[in-house]
Amino acid sequence: MLNFDELEKGFSEEEAIAEARRCLKCKSPLCVGGCPIDNRIPEIVAAIEGQDYRTAIDIINENSNLAIICARVCPHNDQCEGSCVLSRKGEGIRISKLERFLAEKEMELALNRLRGKVAVIGSGPAGLSVAAILAKQNYRVTIFEAHAKAGGVLRYGIPEYRLPNEVVDKQIEIVRNLGVRMETGVVIGEDLTLDQLFAMGYQAVFIGTGTGLARQLGVSGENLNGAMQAIYFLETVALIQDGSLAGRPFPVLPGDRVLVVGAGNVAADAARTALRLKAASVVAVDIVPEKERRASDKEYAEALHEGVVFRFETSVTAIHGDRMVTGVTLQKFARQVSGRESAIVPVPGTEEVIPCDKVIIAVGQKPFARIVSTTTGIKTNDRGYVITESMPYYGMTTREGVFAAGDVVHEPQTVILAMREGRRVAEAIDAFLQRHVMADQGLRPSA
Ligand code: FAD
Repeated sequence: MLNFDELEKGFSEEEAIAEARRCLKCKSPLCVGGCPIDNRIPEIVAAIEGQDYRTAIDIINENSNLAIICARVCPHNDQCEGSCVLSRKGEGIRISKLERFLAEKEMELALNRLRGKVAVIGSGPAGLSVAAILAKQNYRVTIFEAHAKAGGVLRYGIPEYRLPNEVVDKQIEIVRNLGVRMETGVVIGEDLTLDQLFAMGYQAVFIGTGTGLARQLGVSGENLNGAMQAIYFLETVALIQDGSLAGRPFPVLPGDRVLVVGAGNVAADAARTALRLKAASVVAVDIVPEKERRASDKEYAEALHEGVVFRFETSVTAIHGDRMVTGVTLQKFARQVSGRESAIVPVPGTEEVIPCDKVIIAVGQKPFARIVSTTTGIKTNDRGYVITESMPYYGMTTREGVFAAGDVVHEPQTVILAMREGRRVAEAIDAFLQRHVMADQGLRPSA
């Protein structure tokens, strides 16, 4: 039987510390001169003695990429160990074994990075960014997404004529190929709670759930058939188009007279989608003057060009119908300035009833409370947005290990902003996990 077992065993942690303590801390350390790559051996040994392994590893890595090999095959007796003053008595510090101890610690750490598990809730731009960045750093990342397909507003909000699904598919595939797992059709707060995610071994959780709850207009008739929220309208159209709701009629039918409430970007998308569904007319009303509209110049110009009629300083004060919408009351509004106060108020006597078949409401969104209401420790502001900190970990919520970014934190904004915040928060999650993984290992992180 051939025996090629490794001859020498490595130091245990106790042995490594005890060995480091034997160092005489020479003023002019000969060991450094004995090392062909000038490893700062006394500093490495001192860091081991102080159990600051991260620092010790960092110092070794400044000069060496092969520590775990060098620890075994360098002629230490002729180099660092042979130069140690204690070697004159045959008791030189076993620098090779200390190097091996550190190299093996570093491997453990690297493996732990691989084992670091992060749950990302939501697959919009914020969640996708966080997942991709952390996966590239070897974290095991799982995205939990309520919808049947990943993408968030990219898939179910922004219409296909501006962002085709196949482009979204390609982007999702790129993220998947980084090793990110996607659990779709899972609603956190209903199917699984955040506490259960931690119990499943996730060491950090990212909330990127956006603002999926549409704001009500607050007028009578809002619940009639034919009155709908813009984000649900756009989502339903997307689901019918991708076959998930195959066979269902579109919520706007050819020939419908459509009234859109709002003149922001979501309203513009809804209005232009209604035109593509062959609505006979689309009128969009907004309470603010034209120059204060929230739709970008591009979206506004394109909507006008396609035939959307905008009426500013006008809003809907009632929706009429029996079971189905048959019309709305419109009223003019004007800005009233009194001292420093300014408010947009209805102009009496300007009400008019106009007939319509569908009313699409696009007056804003806010976050669902599903996650925060089914766990503890995550504070939101009075409008339901998740509160995050900037220190010590950017984007951490009021609960340790739970982070958030994107619209659920900063209100409905843009894709690029959700991405930017996602990146910053991913870096913070990495810093948080490294510190905690090291603490679990009895390792001290470097400052
Ligand atoms: P979202 O994209 O909203 O993603 C959140 C995800 O979380 C969703 O997939 C949701 O299903 C999931 N989720 C929610 N709750 C749970 C839960 N409990 N469990 C599991 N999953 C959950 N911005 C631009 O820059 N350019 C544009 O052209 C543009 N057009 C827009 C058009 C529309 C119609 C809308 C609504 C928005 C538009 N925006 C645009 C804004 C932009 O899309 C958002 O700012 C951005 O998508 C926010 O990203 P997010 O990741 O924070 O959230």
